Amino acid sequence: MIEITNLQKSFGGIEVLKNINITIQDGEIYGLVGKSGAGKSTLLRCINGLETYSSGSIKTNGVELNSLDKKGLRNFRKEVAMIFQHFPLLGRKTVYDNISFPMKCWKYDKNAIDKRVRELAEIVGISDKLKQKPSTLSGGQKQRVAIARALSMNPKILLSDEATSALDPKTTTAILQLLREINEKLGITIVVVSHQMEVIRQVCQKVSLLENGHIVTSGKVDEVFLNVSKELHKFLGTEEM
Ligand code: ATP
Ligand code: MG
Repeated sequence: MIEITNLQKSFGGIEVLKNINITIQDGEIYGLVGKSGAGKSTLLRCINGLETYSSGSIKTNGVELNSLDKKGLRNFRKEVAMIFQHFPLLGRKTVYDNISFPMKCWKYDKNAIDKRVRELAEIVGISDKLKQKPSTLSGGQKQRVAIARALSMNPKILLSDEATSALDPKTTTAILQLLREINEKLGITIVVVSHQMEVIRQVCQKVSLLENGHIVTSGKVDEVFLNVSKELHKFLGTEEM
């Protein structure tokens, strides 16, 4: 469970997250939606411990993030993986080496790495691409490699920051379907950040709407989107549903 209480974050005196309160249950797919600059990525980076926060609390499975020392944070990050819009894959390495990279860093046994890479490639549907370089893959396939790599350390939580934004609608749906499968089969809690309501609507059970660093509303996706004002739809550039 991720419990965010009265979270506040500033950059150089400018408050970019204001009094954020969110609870994400284990096994949920939770959405964060809002227009550019609303604070979505900053909030995700706070959850991952990549950003510090000025006040408030983030507890993951009962552990306060701010209380972790360097080693604690390093171990914590094994449990919280992240994927992005642009897939930061290692261009000179093969798909196999990209997926195995975190396990090599953590000095996993070679046979264990091999077994895990093949398992992950199967899960994300790129078993036939292991010997290729990322530059020979489509955007959707690159994202599948990035997802496999993110899953390599057996995380409990997967944070997705606009992971489908660079993809066409059909590929977006396929990647969202993959996220749903990962959630169902592996029981991983997923937080999906997007500026597109449609993306959130396709995969999330619950959602928070962010505007200027604060939460406008939170709740079940259908209820939140039903209650969202016309103005907000205009704001996000979405059709009313
Ligand atoms: P987008 O949809 O464009 O990705 P976002 O909702 O993810 O937007 P954030 O990247 O979280 O928005 O940014 C929120 C605010 O914090 C913005 O005003 C941004 O300029 C500011 N900000 C983010 N990172 C930094 C930083 N490292 N230093 C200073 N200001 C920052
Ligand atoms: Mg962002």
